[in-house]
Amino acid sequence: MNNQNIYNRKTIEDVICSEGIGIHSGKITKLRLLPADLNTGIVFIQKKFGMKSPIKVSPDSVVDTNYAITLSNDKWRISTVEHLLSFFYIFGITDIIVEADGNEIPIYDGSINPIINIFNEKKFYTYEEINNPIYILNPIWIFNEDKYIIVLPSDELKVSYTINYDNPVIKTQYAQFVLSKDIFIKEIAPARTFGFIKDIGYLHKNSLGLGGSLQNTLLISDDSYLNDPRFQDECVRHKILDFIGDISLLGRPIIGHFIVCKSGHSLNLGFIKKIKEIYSSIEIGNKIEFIKKASNTI
Ligand SMILES: [Zn+2]
Repeated sequence: MNNQNIYNRKTIEDVICSEGIGIHSGKITKLRLLPADLNTGIVFIQKKFGMKSPIKVSPDSVVDTNYAITLSNDKWRISTVEHLLSFFYIFGITDIIVEADGNEIPIYDGSINPIINIFNEKKFYTYEEINNPIYILNPIWIFNEDKYIIVLPSDELKVSYTINYDNPVIKTQYAQFVLSKDIFIKEIAPARTFGFIKDIGYLHKNSLGLGGSLQNTLLISDDSYLNDPRFQDECVRHKILDFIGDISLLGRPIIGHFIVCKSGHSLNLGFIKKIKEIYSSIEIGNKIEFIKKASNTI
């Protein structure tokens, strides 16, 4: 396949409307997704401010990583953006305006399937310009106690993810995928947000999880699932979905093998800031060096 088709910048051709409940706020938000000019990036706008107060997606616009990614500027904030961003990333949508009349992206059914359905049969507009990928040339890592992320050179985007919870239903789950669009649709997109019954009191006390229900969350007690899992390892698959949303904050495709253990939004954000720092000075030469290196190893 011609890489240029994969990495061309892309927007949507027509306005797409949608609405749903926010998992944390419990409030309904209406979204309008609008086509955007080349190099606009992914931009969130609040309906009442419009383009006067946009929030452009980048690691620097993140203000909170507690239970979700929250972006903000000095005027307003938008939460739980990671699932939508994960979808944009895998579908290669680089330029789009997301107008919201509330402060949280809808959770839908907890997975990305409804988002894929919303975009189904909608046309994308492909620009001629390429969104230059970051080709990981050397190992990079970050850790915090027993949590860590490592990225190694690879000729594809691959994620190997381990989670471990002190809960007999989940215990340890491990999954590994090479993230093509087809694999994403089949293996990752259906995996829902998950939560534990024992945490509900704490979450509600902190105004979190107010929109959570069995319709949008895989709920787990100390001895069973309260609704049927879609995969035997649905939780780790959902963590991969979240992880993709987080690395998408970089705004460029990344080619590398991520090995992730027990990470969450906060460590993910620290890691992409590190990648950004290392690779901000290596632009076009990056690909040439990578190809040279790859051909030496054949
Ligand atoms: Zn999630």
